Amino acid sequence: MLSRAIAAPLSSSSPLHRMLRSLPSLFSSPSPSSSLASPPPPPPPRSSRSTPMAALSSDPAQVAAAPRRRSQIAKRLEKFETTIFTKMSLLAAEHGAINLGQGFPNFDGPGFVKDAAIAAVAEGKNQYARGHGVPQLNSAIAARFEADTGLAIDPDADVTVTSGCTEAIAAAVLGLVDPGDEVILLAPFYDSYLAVLSMAGATVKSVTLRPPEFALPLEELTAAFSPRTRAILVNSPHNPTGKVLSRAELNHIAGLCQAHDALVFSDEVYDKLVFGGEEHVSPASIPGMYQRTVTMNSLGKTFSLTGWKVGWAVAPPALTWGIRQAHAYLTFATATPLQHAAAVALASPPEYYAELRRDYAAKKEILVAGLEEVGFTVYRTGGTYFVVADHTPFGFGSDVEFCEHLVREVGVVAIPTSVFYLDPEEGRSMVRFTFAKDEQTLRDAVARLKAHLRPCRH
Ligand code: GLN
Repeated sequence: MLSRAIAAPLSSSSPLHRMLRSLPSLFSSPSPSSSLASPPPPPPPRSSRSTPMAALSSDPAQVAAAPRRRSQIAKRLEKFETTIFTKMSLLAAEHGAINLGQGFPNFDGPGFVKDAAIAAVAEGKNQYARGHGVPQLNSAIAARFEADTGLAIDPDADVTVTSGCTEAIAAAVLGLVDPGDEVILLAPFYDSYLAVLSMAGATVKSVTLRPPEFALPLEELTAAFSPRTRAILVNSPHNPTGKVLSRAELNHIAGLCQAHDALVFSDEVYDKLVFGGEEHVSPASIPGMYQRTVTMNSLGKTFSLTGWKVGWAVAPPALTWGIRQAHAYLTFATATPLQHAAAVALASPPEYYAELRRDYAAKKEILVAGLEEVGFTVYRTGGTYFVVADHTPFGFGSDVEFCEHLVREVGVVAIPTSVFYLDPEEGRSMVRFTFAKDEQTLRDAVARLKAHLRPCRH
């Protein structure tokens, strides 16, 4: 199937949005106290924004006559539901289920980084940071970028510190994409991409990575590029599949971007989590590509500090200007003491990353082997702290149905992958599990799955 294009703004009747709308009811709790079931709590009845006087009026008849709306959210966001990660983490807490859904470690970040943050607060590093980053952190990011890619960059001109990689992506899109520009995504794709592209008024095309290898479909990608293509948003190692794009695949992307004068937005937050001989290659390191690439990363995954929300974008000055202008008016600056601590974290020696990889490889093996013993077909990919598995041996109609059963009857939370596609049908047979948990938690989850799931005999 060729890439599918959808018009911007996204149609609110697209299958994805019907799917997202259907999730709350599927997952709604019998408990009346549950606030999980979206829609979000309706705001107090207000008058329409188009009749502001009614809201100010003290005349009860006039107020009562004003149209009631569930929410006054802007059109570009109204079709998006509560994020799947928020929903599933709430469900996990509500049902006492083991949360292998939202990707965050259930263990703490390193003591030396936390101590650096505490010291920075105590030393009074508590006022606004320089907008594009505390100088020590910009330098540490540039040094790590050079160590990883071999490219020497200017920490002041090429590095922008953001509030997590999510803000870096938002700033790159809002700062560099015009309404109507086409942006290509690799499906399944992380949920914030579509929302921020909708905010920017972009036209989204997606090209699907399919199991079992999730290889880049080169011909489909070639066909997806057009004279209106502004950028391709690449995420390798890839959430949710764990696919690590090969150098040959990245060369193909580079060739298309050069031929069409398009940019690469590269989300590399899982770059240090690659296993089994895989190699992470930054698109920026492909010859000729630095000038058209925004490389984005963060502290969260590599230092088990997802709540700190410290991220960054590396790009040549002509692209950095757009990113910084968006960043300046989105958040202005990122938390000052955490930036100082992030600079300390990034000075870690290579052994830190080697040990992280060893720890995660062991966790991955516990989960993957356990899921296979239970009867899942697990797609053994090379990166991230996620694995995607085929749930169809258990006889459920869809990923959403399967995840609902899992949380209610098994006590384990996974993420249905259909929410990561423009056409949810494409993700219907797969669910995502994270192994960013201590080993005992992973063993407990596997034990629950073994106790409650049986493959159907055909
Ligand atoms: N990146 C995390 C995941 O994929 C989720 C982060 C979030 O909830 N925004 O699970």
